[in-house]
Amino acid sequence: MYLKSVELSGFKSFGKKTTLEFGSPIAAIVGPNGSGKSNVAEAFRFVLGEQSMKSMRSKKGEDLIWGGSPSLPRANRAGVKVTFDNSKRLLDIDFGEVVIERVVHRDGQNEYILNGTIVRLKDVIRLLAGANIGGSGYHIISQGEADHILNASPRERREMVEDALGLKLYQHKKAESERKLEETAVNIDKTKSLRREIAPHLHFLRQQVEKIEKARETRETLADKLREYLAREHAWISQEDARLRDEAKTYEIELKKFSESISRARAARAPAGAGSLAELQKQLEERERKLAETRRESERLARELGRAEGALEANTVTVEALVPVPHVRTFARELDATVSELERADDVSRIHSTLAEVRARIKSFIEGLSGAAPETSQEAREQVKALASSLERMQKEEAGLSGGLEKLRAEIAGARESGFAAERDLVGLESSAREAQGKLAAVQTARGHVASFRQRFEEEAREGIALVGESLRGWERAEIPTGALSEDRSVQEKRRREIERLKIKIEESGIGESDAVVKEFIQTKERDEFLSRELADLEKSAASLKDIIAELEKTIDERFREGLTLINEALKGFFQKLFGGGEAKLKVEEPRRVSRTVLDTADDEDADEGEIEDEEELYAGLSISVSLPRKKIRGLEVLSGGERALTSIALIFSMTQVNPPPFLVLDETDAALDEANSKRYADMIHELAGKSQLIVVTHNRATMAAAGELYGVTMGGDGMSKLLSVKLEEAERVAK
Ligand code: ATP
Repeated sequence: MYLKSVELSGFKSFGKKTTLEFGSPIAAIVGPNGSGKSNVAEAFRFVLGEQSMKSMRSKKGEDLIWGGSPSLPRANRAGVKVTFDNSKRLLDIDFGEVVIERVVHRDGQNEYILNGTIVRLKDVIRLLAGANIGGSGYHIISQGEADHILNASPRERREMVEDALGLKLYQHKKAESERKLEETAVNIDKTKSLRREIAPHLHFLRQQVEKIEKARETRETLADKLREYLAREHAWISQEDARLRDEAKTYEIELKKFSESISRARAARAPAGAGSLAELQKQLEERERKLAETRRESERLARELGRAEGALEANTVTVEALVPVPHVRTFARELDATVSELERADDVSRIHSTLAEVRARIKSFIEGLSGAAPETSQEAREQVKALASSLERMQKEEAGLSGGLEKLRAEIAGARESGFAAERDLVGLESSAREAQGKLAAVQTARGHVASFRQRFEEEAREGIALVGESLRGWERAEIPTGALSEDRSVQEKRRREIERLKIKIEESGIGESDAVVKEFIQTKERDEFLSRELADLEKSAASLKDIIAELEKTIDERFREGLTLINEALKGFFQKLFGGGEAKLKVEEPRRVSRTVLDTADDEDADEGEIEDEEELYAGLSISVSLPRKKIRGLEVLSGGERALTSIALIFSMTQVNPPPFLVLDETDAALDEANSKRYADMIHELAGKSQLIVVTHNRATMAAAGELYGVTMGGDGMSKLLSVKLEEAERVAK
């Protein structure tokens, strides 16, 4: 006993809330025609999620709502609530009692409520399918629909059988897996196409990043080379600078010394004042002049002395004898020479002194003439004596002058000699100074070069920092590389060229904004890797979905074949019981390609009514073969109405045997049966009730008698169905 009750409120003719409690395995609903019995059966269809309005004899949801009567206005909603005893966990939900409710509003909106919580239609369908309460409604046989299974197409028939066998759940799972597989396939395509889309960009970025990587390596090499180059250059420049500075200083000091020595040498070469060569020469000239004068005087005195001595000897002499003509001529020539000298002289003092000298000589000449006639021989002797003494004095003076002259000449020669030596020294000093000057100039030029090297070094350092960063700094503190100061400059030049070559290489690589490119590459690569993982996951899940589908197909197929065998066995029994012989059988047809209409309620929240999908599939439906006892007929078409009803009942009942549903609703399934068959029918439902709870709508007494409880449905003048619990005796009366 699973079905506890059903409550109808505003549903069709049940304008007021009406509850049917089920306390026995068979509940019969009886009542006159049009009282609302079938509405109760339809209430079951409705609450269990029926989507076909036609199967509830309506066109639209509104038709299911109480239409109103003079005594009770129309309702705005129709609701049916079914309560299951779930203590045995018939339904896969952790509640001892499960209440499923469906409400339809006038605007056609439906609501499904599970234990007070609004749920989706597919939740209800899934829950019920798990309890073998399928959607094909084989467990609710509406009035006049008993032979529906006979009229159904092979495909519909197969679906009903599958439903009865509890395969719907697997099919739902399969459909869901197929849908997921399709989605997965779409996602695989999408992912592949996304990967294809980003592939060229990724390829381009990879190449760029490889270039960047190479440029980075080149930059690192450049940094190393630059570090070494700059350290060496700095050390070399510093050393050269210091060396040249020292050298320049040395030469400057040397030059200063030379210049002092030159000044000194110059001074030594031409001393001025007393002792100088010019002075000595002047003295020499003066003395020579004096010597000449002295000599002349001596000569004159000697002549006069001769004359005086002659006169003395002769004691008388004439003027003519005393003054010889040559002596006068000599005097006149000397006078003439002195005058000529005077004419050339421009020094006034000299002229004056010379004139004084001329006067003195004239005076002396005249005196000489007057003395030529001495008065007495005494006077003559005294004159001779005076003249001799003058001559002697004069000769002494001459000797003195002559001796001084020699000394002066020696002095001049000495001065001249020392002048030459000083000149030689000066020339030597000047040459050394020039040499030092030349060296200093060379050093200055070299310093100029070093300065330009420093300038170039600073530019290179600046450029280097701009290229490889601040890490380059520190060459000043760097240890001086071994041999840096002694190696040939050409080696360093080679390094410089190598650095230039690397710079050009970096420049030519044309990599700018490298951080952005690397970032984009990483992002794109991560995206691609993500897509690749995604693809692998999708392919894995597609494979596992295919496995699941294959497994489900296998299960469905096995269970279907096993179930069909069991149904056919049961069918044989029921058929023979009803017909007293003969046989009916369900057969699997040859598979053929059919278009399948699928009600997809899988995942769409709002799609209560589901979406219709058409697809082609290979499908093997079910056909029925019948052979009646004592009759040579085999086709369903030739069966009488009663025979059709019996065959349907046999089929329906046999279907419930393999996988019994928790309950069965049979709406006047027995309507076409004669009395004998009604009894057999009653026996059969009795048997059936052992496995499934039965709600039967009937006019048949035998069926009523088989029921454990009876509900009478009546309809008064207000068009509203009313329910009352009746005894069997009343039932027949109520039914009429
Ligand atoms: P029978 O024994 O002849 O099959 P029944 O007892 O099964 O009859 P139903 O077919 O259940 O009777 O009831 C039909 C009645 O329900 C009709 O009288 C119809 O007018 C009434 N009915 C159907 N829909 C509505 C509705 N929306 N509002 C009010 N009454 C309705």
